Amino acid sequence: MSSLQKIRVLLLDDDQFILDFVSELLRDLGVDEVLVAQDGMAGLNVLSEQVADIDLLICDIEMPEMDGIEFLRNIASQNYCGNIALFSGIDADLLRAAERFAKVSGLRVLGTLSKPVSLGALATILERVSHPELLSAVKKPIQPPDDSKFNLEDVRKAIVDEAFEVYYQPKVTVSDGKIVGFESLARWIHPHYGFIPPDQFIPLIEQTPGLIDEFTQLILKKSVKQLAQWLDQGLDLKAAVNISMENLNRYDLPEIFAKTAQAFNVPLKKIMLEITESKLSKDYALSLDILTRFRIKGFGLSIDDFGTGYATMETLNNLPFTELKIDRMFVNGAVNDASARAIVESSVRLAKEFGLNIVAEGVETEEELELIGKLGCIEAQGYYFSKPVPADEFVQLKSLHVSNR
Ligand code: C2E
Ligand code: CA
Ligand code: CA
Repeated sequence: MSSLQKIRVLLLDDDQFILDFVSELLRDLGVDEVLVAQDGMAGLNVLSEQVADIDLLICDIEMPEMDGIEFLRNIASQNYCGNIALFSGIDADLLRAAERFAKVSGLRVLGTLSKPVSLGALATILERVSHPELLSAVKKPIQPPDDSKFNLEDVRKAIVDEAFEVYYQPKVTVSDGKIVGFESLARWIHPHYGFIPPDQFIPLIEQTPGLIDEFTQLILKKSVKQLAQWLDQGLDLKAAVNISMENLNRYDLPEIFAKTAQAFNVPLKKIMLEITESKLSKDYALSLDILTRFRIKGFGLSIDDFGTGYATMETLNNLPFTELKIDRMFVNGAVNDASARAIVESSVRLAKEFGLNIVAEGVETEEELELIGKLGCIEAQGYYFSKPVPADEFVQLKSLHVSNR
């Protein structure tokens, strides 16, 4: 087996015994080096550092944190083009479904390995490994999407160091222009790369399990701390914090958030959680459970980017939202485009039907403000009032100090 002489394999499996056992078999088959990773994160790290040196990735499908499908989705989104074998103890149908998923995601799947794995099955897969020189020419390192300059480690460190900042954008009442609250928007001011907008780091954080929990917790903590200070100064405001669908993964999330707010003596009704239903949730029952208990505790729940995602009448009917935010695409379009206007109108009607507050996002001109007011929007947010700004600039906004009615 001279062709196998210089082959390097990355073996991803949560079971230490399997890692040891399969490594042994691979070495018996003449594999030059076996790298092991016990969870998806560790696997991504290995790929980010030495992708070009890996000739075969053997990926377990069932793992407790990031499962194999999530891991594969992650590397597929980064156009990983190395050889892959899927490895699993689940039944053959599921393993075939996983293989189909990986292939339609554009991954190069050489085959599947059922547990317990035999020497013969491993040898067959190894025979299919393409010539490494050919592959390495097209292998790109695994890194954040958008060709960003930073990597996952930078992001992780920034979370630990609490380096993400929060900018505040006012939410105002359409009728009198008074600021009634703010939306917290995350910003990363990187010591080398400068200002990095959320669209560049949120997706990376979201696809790395565990990270989004810590990130959201950090933004919530900073927002609540700031809100507490402003409430103390007599500014009657509400905070809106963006929550990712990926956050809705643990039953005790409402308790965790409540604890954070209570640590700063902020009443939960002063906190609005904004959620975009941009994709169907993995576990609808779990999401519903968590969202309902957020409401029971007193948090407000806002459905973000309404009109763009999967959110429908059914969503509104089933999920306990208190606010609907119309996406800025329709708000900007409403002035000149009858169909955008119709969407704003029907969103307003829906909101009324379900007893929700209605906010127009991305208001940029006086004309837009006038129109959305006429169409029935109660609150508005957008550059017309202010861009998201740091806390010290927020307190200088004039409409913050219009006297209370
Ligand atoms: P989003 O929740 O829809 O936030 C509103 C976005 O629209 C913000 O972009 C804001 O700066 C921008 N915007 C506000 N008014 C106007 C306007 O009049 N015109 C235009 N053109 N844009 C306006 P930003 O801050 O870049 O955030 C982008 C997205 O990143 C957010 O969209 C949200 O989905 C996500 N994001 C930001 N911070 C967080 C966070 O802490 N956690 C999570 N999970 N997502 C966040
Ligand atoms: Ca939002
Ligand atoms: Ca939005």
